[in-house]
Amino acid sequence: MKHLKICLLLLAVGLAGKSWSQDLLSTISKAETERIEKYLASDELEGRKTFSKGIDKAAAFIANEFAQAGLATFNNSGTYLQTFSRMPTKITKEDTNKIENLTLSNVVAVIPGKSLANEYVIFSAHYDHLGINSVRAVNGDSIYNGANDDAAGTTAMIMLSKYFKKLNNNERTLIFAAFTAEEVGGFGAQYFSKQFDPMSVKAMFNLEMIGTESKWGKNSAYITGYEKTDMGAILQKNLAGSGFTFYPDPYSDQNLFYRSDNTTLARLGVPAHTISTSKMDSEPNYHKPSDEFQTLDIDNMNEIIKAIAKSAQSIIAGKDTPTRVDTTQLK
Ligand SMILES: [Zn+2]
Repeated sequence: MKHLKICLLLLAVGLAGKSWSQDLLSTISKAETERIEKYLASDELEGRKTFSKGIDKAAAFIANEFAQAGLATFNNSGTYLQTFSRMPTKITKEDTNKIENLTLSNVVAVIPGKSLANEYVIFSAHYDHLGINSVRAVNGDSIYNGANDDAAGTTAMIMLSKYFKKLNNNERTLIFAAFTAEEVGGFGAQYFSKQFDPMSVKAMFNLEMIGTESKWGKNSAYITGYEKTDMGAILQKNLAGSGFTFYPDPYSDQNLFYRSDNTTLARLGVPAHTISTSKMDSEPNYHKPSDEFQTLDIDNMNEIIKAIAKSAQSIIAGKDTPTRVDTTQLK
C-alpha cells in the first residue's frame, strides 16, 4: 500500500507539474505581445537605425522589460546594455549631424541555470532596423518601422524571457539578446559572440520576422539551415501533437542561413538557426516603410511564441543537445 501511495503521490505531483507548465504557457498573452510589438514598431522610435536616438530609446525599453521581469545581467555586470564602439562603415551627411558618440549596444539578460549553469541556450533577435529615409519615402511615409523586421523577433525574445523566468525550471543558463547593427553588418552579434567560449553554447534560437503567416498558413514556421544540425528535429519532436510544424527553410536559393545573426555563432560551430515565417519570395512590406504594426497577425505571432517556448523545453532542461554545425561545410 505504501508503495502504491508513493506512486500515486508521484503521479499527482507529475500531473500537477505538467498542468502548471501548461498554464504558464497561457501567460504568453496576446495583449502583452501586442503592447511590446506596438511600441518597438512605433514612429516614436524612428525606425531604430544604428547610431540613432530611436534605437537608444528601443534599448532602454528592452532593458526595462528585462528589469521588470527580474532577469539577471550578463556576468553580473549590473547593466543589461552591452556597449561597445565601432565606426559605421558608411556615414551619410545626415548621420554625421546626428551622431554624438559612436557607441552601440546589445541588450542582454540572463536566467542562470540550476544544474548546468555553464551551458548556455541563447534566444536572440536584432532590434535595429533601417531608420528614416526621406529619399526612399513611399506615399509620403519615410519611417522604416520594421514591425516585422525585426520588432517581431525582438518581441518574441522578450516574451520568452518573461515566460522562462516564471517557469523557473531551466537547468541550462538562458541568455536573451537583442542585437544591434544587424542591418549594417551584424556587428552586435559579432561583439556578443566574443564574450564567451562558443563550446559553452548548446543552442541558439534566432528569431526573425514571425509577424506574418508563413507560406503554409497559421501554426507553422521555418528553420534556416535545418539540415545542418539535428536541432530542428528536436524542436519538432517537442511539438508532437501540438498541431504546430517547423519546416526546413523553403527559400534555399536565398541563403537565409547566412543572412541573419545566427551565422556568426554557426561559424563557431554553435547549433544556431533562425526561425522565421517571412515569405521571402513575396512578403509585400519587406524592407519598406509599410512594414508597420497593422500588417502583422498578432494572434498567430503569439501562438508562434508559445510554440517556440514549448519546442525548447528538452534543450533548456539539458535532456537534448543538438549536434554542432560542421564549419568545414559552410559557405
Ligand atoms: Zn531582420
